Amino acid sequence: MSDNLTTLAYLPTIISFILALKFLSSPKHARLGNQLGAIGMALAIAVTLAQKHFYGLGYMLIAVGGLIGGGIGWVGARKVKMTDMPQMVAIFNGVGGGAVALVALVEFHQTAAEPGRMLLNVSIAIIVSALIGSISFAGSMVAFGKLQGLVGDRPIVWRGQRVGNIIILLIGITAGTFILGGHSYQLMWLLLIEIAAALAFGILFVLPIGGADMPVVISLLNACTGLSASAAGFELRQNVLIVSGMLVGSSGSLLTLMMCRAMNRSLGNVIFGAFGQIQTGPSTAASNEGLTVRATTAEDVAIMLAYAHKVIIVPGYGLAVAQAQHDVRQLADLLTARGVNVEYAIHPVAGRMPGHMNVLLAEANVPYTQLKEMDEINPEFPQTDVSLVIGANDVVNPAARSDKSSPIYGMPILDVDKSKAVVVLKRSMNPGFAGIENHLFYEPETSMLFGDAKDSILKLIAAVKAV
Ligand code: NDP
Repeated sequence: MSDNLTTLAYLPTIISFILALKFLSSPKHARLGNQLGAIGMALAIAVTLAQKHFYGLGYMLIAVGGLIGGGIGWVGARKVKMTDMPQMVAIFNGVGGGAVALVALVEFHQTAAEPGRMLLNVSIAIIVSALIGSISFAGSMVAFGKLQGLVGDRPIVWRGQRVGNIIILLIGITAGTFILGGHSYQLMWLLLIEIAAALAFGILFVLPIGGADMPVVISLLNACTGLSASAAGFELRQNVLIVSGMLVGSSGSLLTLMMCRAMNRSLGNVIFGAFGQIQTGPSTAASNEGLTVRATTAEDVAIMLAYAHKVIIVPGYGLAVAQAQHDVRQLADLLTARGVNVEYAIHPVAGRMPGHMNVLLAEANVPYTQLKEMDEINPEFPQTDVSLVIGANDVVNPAARSDKSSPIYGMPILDVDKSKAVVVLKRSMNPGFAGIENHLFYEPETSMLFGDAKDSILKLIAAVKAV
């Protein structure tokens, strides 16, 4: 295939990636977006394979690699639980970064062996892609370890951490700078130092960040992988890689900023704030002295729900853990059939990844019209008879509005405390992700239905039927 023809053949891929991103931005069209992205990727692979520079053995190696990688990806994606999705994204992102760093090594090996000096733009692309790709790989692996419970999910901090990290990063950048415009294969050791320093930096930069902030970190590392892939596109003179890398880089950066905004925290606070460290200040338990928690039963809640005009369901991480989405839908249908107005309040960071609740409820075919974003639903709480909080905690914690000393102060929350009655479904009084107390549970209008969310909802379904 001629170069012009190849570039033209990649055009549908680029268009399908752009359309995929567009469709992925709404739950309604997300499936179509995903399919378009997959078609675009298949096209890109087909066009790449159609190029002349592959021979028999090359094709065979690509086929073996494709089968192994594709097989692992297919099985992994089918088997992964919804709650483990962030880990999956971390691994996929990490191997993307690792692949880019390996391409940089191979390109250096080939280019440095050619006579004359390396072109400046090619050496810059190699250095940048090796650096960012390695950081992304190592950082994503630590993020995976934290989410999977292999590395402690609390922030790991030590003295002189930031200075040490900066020194390591500077070593990597300096080693890379010496390669610039070089021409000798002997410089390979400098590239290896650069990669080793970048790998160390990736690990050390993620260790002090708490498990709670891993989705933000993964999104940031995803943006890095995109940028490194784009740099690899310059090395390989592949426009499709440059454009798709940029798309990943920019969408990952936007997602990172949107998640930070939804938590009302700066990116600097996420990276350097060690959020989720065990609080050593005055015990929150002391501030709860004299306050009581009202435990309730499924039968009592069923009566409240069955005779309500308006019920808002507030899903959170616990719903995903309990995998109770189908049962929630059944309960909502039951109430709707009795004439109750049921809506779902979706907080942008409820759960453990962006869009977690949308994906979960879409799985149970909850109509999109019933899903209401935070800004839209908040004014409705004062007219709501019952807010049914299912496995949500931080996203309904009023301390975010009123307690300046709280680590989540300023995070926009769902105003469930303004509704006439609140029922919280959770297993214990344990805190949520931010590790802090929630005074909502002690409010006079709140009652607690303790137990696994799925068990509680099944009991509620039976009790509503009996009313
Ligand atoms: P939380 O983590 O605050 O609370 C979840 C609650 O679910 C816990 O209190 C837990 O209580 C309960 N729970 C767990 N398992 C079950 C179960 N099987 N049945 C019933 N209840 C259960 O979740 P939220 O969704 O309210 O908040 C999300 C948090 O994650 C926020 O702090 C947010 O900032 C953070 N975060 C989210 C990101 C995102 O992209 N979505 C990104 C980064 C951070 P108990 O153990 O007592 O049952």
